[in-house]
Amino acid sequence: MRDDNCIFCKIANGDIPSATIYEDDMFRVILDLGPASKGHALILPKEHFADVTELDDVYAEKVLKLGAKIGGAMKKSLGCAGFNLVQNNGIAAGQTVFHFHMHVIPRYENGPEMVAWVPGSYEEGEMEKTAEEIRKAL
Ligand code: AMP
Ligand code: ZN
Repeated sequence: MRDDNCIFCKIANGDIPSATIYEDDMFRVILDLGPASKGHALILPKEHFADVTELDDVYAEKVLKLGAKIGGAMKKSLGCAGFNLVQNNGIAAGQTVFHFHMHVIPRYENGPEMVAWVPGSYEEGEMEKTAEEIRKAL
């Protein structure tokens, strides 16, 4: 299903032009307008899912493979040394467009640098308690 008010539905289905690097019957892959690095791409399903919790199983099964394919093509074509597959869910996680998308971000040896998290630590017993809380909710 498409959402008429969603810009990524419009882009994915070709109603708004984009710098498309790949398209099939389920996905369109475009260049991000505000790239973290040269070639930063977004994998967009042609159907509307707000985030990964809504993603249909068939899309979910294909999206990671497609990320690997696009990242591999970036290494060959752009000479990046690696790439990140990044996927944000919810405002607190940095999601700004509420149509599921996966970022493919080329990483070059000479940068740009990107922000990474600072590793934290657990108090005594907190790690097992945290694991148990998540397990109970599955
Ligand atoms: P997120 O913060 O994970 O929701 O990512 C949204 C991404 O979409 C950002 O990296 C934006 O730069 C990008 N973006 C927003 N609008 C457009 C657009 N019209 N075309 C291409 N990229 C877009
Ligand atoms: Zn949408």
